[in-house]
Amino acid sequence: MAEAAEESTYVWSHKARITLFLSAMRHFRDTLRENGTAVHYRQLDHPRNHGSLSLELKRSIDILKPQRLVLTQPGEWRVQKALTTIAEAANLPLEVCNDGHFFETLEGFSQYAGEGKALRMASFYRKMRRATGILMTGDKPEGGKWSYDTENRGTFSKTGPGKIPQPKSFSPDGTTREVMKLVEKRFSGHPGRLTHFDWPVNPGQASKALADFTQKRLPQFGTYQDAMWTKCSYLYHSRLSSAMNLKLLNPREAVTSAERAYRNGSAPLNSVEGFVRQVLGWREYVRGVYWHFMPEYEALNALNANAPLPPFYWTGDTEMNCLRETIRQTLDTGYAHHIQRLMVTGLFALLLGVDPREVHRWYLAIYVDAVEWAELPNTLGMSQFADGGIMASKPYVASGKYIGKMSNYCRRCRYDPSQALSDDACPFTTLYWDFLIRHGPALRENPRMGLQLRNLDPFSKEKCRAIAAKTSTLRKNIQ
Ligand code: FAD
Ligand code: SF4
Repeated sequence: MAEAAEESTYVWSHKARITLFLSAMRHFRDTLRENGTAVHYRQLDHPRNHGSLSLELKRSIDILKPQRLVLTQPGEWRVQKALTTIAEAANLPLEVCNDGHFFETLEGFSQYAGEGKALRMASFYRKMRRATGILMTGDKPEGGKWSYDTENRGTFSKTGPGKIPQPKSFSPDGTTREVMKLVEKRFSGHPGRLTHFDWPVNPGQASKALADFTQKRLPQFGTYQDAMWTKCSYLYHSRLSSAMNLKLLNPREAVTSAERAYRNGSAPLNSVEGFVRQVLGWREYVRGVYWHFMPEYEALNALNANAPLPPFYWTGDTEMNCLRETIRQTLDTGYAHHIQRLMVTGLFALLLGVDPREVHRWYLAIYVDAVEWAELPNTLGMSQFADGGIMASKPYVASGKYIGKMSNYCRRCRYDPSQALSDDACPFTTLYWDFLIRHGPALRENPRMGLQLRNLDPFSKEKCRAIAAKTSTLRKNIQ
């Protein structure tokens, strides 16, 4: 095992992301050694650390002289390529093993993808439910419906969510504190803070985090899955993505725990199905899309977006309250929930027309759960529509009014989400109309865009010109 500086610097990683990965590795190393396994481990601060996984592999081959290499399927195409190149140069056979932390194999996904139907999460999810028997009664979905997503869109009243059980927090132990010191020293210029670091770093903690979520927050998870609220970073979300991605928690345990809560009557079906859909559906689907379409996928840019990422993405210094709240929370914790990622930071970049590779690099750097197989399809496909519809059947575009409906951000903002042209016009709303005007001709063929595009019909030429002018000023002021 090797701690390679390159893994923290090839994107400008959040300090919490680096800390979590290294701490989880060191805990795993210690457990293996306690169980009697010999581990060759190279720490980041070793004076002869070569700085990259491939060079450390080469060094190990020179010293250990193995007959063959065995590797679990990595989380990034880049890493697999680099390690394969080293194995070939050393003339060693390399066996890439299936990663048992997923329900579906890559071959299974490719077979499904090759069946000629449009690649859609909903049909893949149905297949996975049937194959695993999760939330099934015989061959029928539990409750009669495959998805309860219409019951996942609840919002809070004006008084807010009230008291939400706080997620289980894990104070950094000695190993984590040592890593934190190293990260503060070695990556002092990197974004983010470690003050609030409380992520599970070993399987025991991950299990406790799952039990805590299942018991205290899962029952309301489904209803408020899409809601946002100031100073409530986690709401009813599980915070389990990093534990699952780092293999501290097997997704089977997460899904089983949720299903058990439904069967014993402690959580309703809309919540349990909502959670199962995220883990058994979306999580498996994005991984399949990643490996099926890489490496070409990374270069896709269907909307020809080429604006630079606004600098405030790294600081949160903006007057747009929704972005300020989401980005500052992200810098503090390395976390934002799905709707904050998709409908605040992601939506703004999409409407502004930011180069999807810049957006991709930001998402890969800034979240504690960021691994490319999960991040890239979510960013490039679901959020930026850069894959032209492989992942999502239409671009997820909305005006500031959507954010106003799903959160209290707009109430504390100097902008007005219902305005597109006035002095206090919400930039999301101005850019929303600009997006529809710019991309309308290309998107008109898409039946799912019809309703949104028809709203442009009453717009006069003058109004379209005014929106273009307002957008142009906005772009200048943002950079
Ligand atoms: P919950 O809301 O509690 O959901 C439960 C679990 O479902 C998550 O832990 C996660 O494992 C899984 N899940 C939910 N939605 C997705 C999804 N769309 N894709 C994959 N898994 C999902 N997730 C990552 O794990 N790593 C990433 O790098 C990542 N990047 C993203 C980038 C963008 C632009 C967007 C829109 C989403 C991204 N996601 C990513 C998906 C999702 O936002 C996070 O998994 C989720 O917010 C993690 O918080 P949670 O554990 O509290 O999730
Ligand atoms: Fe965000 Fe616009 Fe609402 Fe302000 S008014 S919080 S910028 S959506």
